[in-house]
Amino acid sequence: MTQDEIVVIPDAGAMRAFGRSFASRLGGGDVVLLHGDLGAGKTTLTQGIAAGLSVASPVQSPTFSIVAEHDGVDARGRAVRLYHLDLYRLGDPGDLEALGYDQYLDPPDGISIIEWPERAGSWLPERFWLLRITHLPDGGRRIELNRQEGETPNR
Ligand code: ADP
Ligand code: MG
Repeated sequence: MTQDEIVVIPDAGAMRAFGRSFASRLGGGDVVLLHGDLGAGKTTLTQGIAAGLSVASPVQSPTFSIVAEHDGVDARGRAVRLYHLDLYRLGDPGDLEALGYDQYLDPPDGISIIEWPERAGSWLPERFWLLRITHLPDGGRRIELNRQEGETPNR
């Protein structure tokens, strides 16, 4: 696991801006895991990433569905499907099979962004971005950005 950077985000607007610029590093096949408590800013960050991918449909906290799909375009101008998963309301990990979770962990034509990936236990993709968001005392957020390339995750 490589630690690429630590970023301090003062407010929700800056979170969206970070998402927009982070999106330029993403392309088809990428999986982004978003760790953080309720209200950490995972969905806000996803909205920024979606904006960076020129997604026109609104990105919300999925209430009843676990997966929402959006059409976007990556930085190279290639069409990508954005899969936004929120596992918060997942019953038990067995439900992941019914969901077809595997396909979202290896999305050749798209980018998967997963909120609450820890709900899937140790079921992880082979390569992924991991962004850990924590609250700062002043109301801001800290994002620790890591990248796992290839080999079996070790955590
Ligand atoms: P999560 O998806 O992690 O539960 P949300 O993105 O839905 O979190 O909500 C985060 C809330 O916190 C939003 O109301 C947002 O406006 C607010 N907020 C305040 N400061 C920040 C910040 N620095 N980064 C992100 N969100 C922030
Ligand atoms: Mg959310």
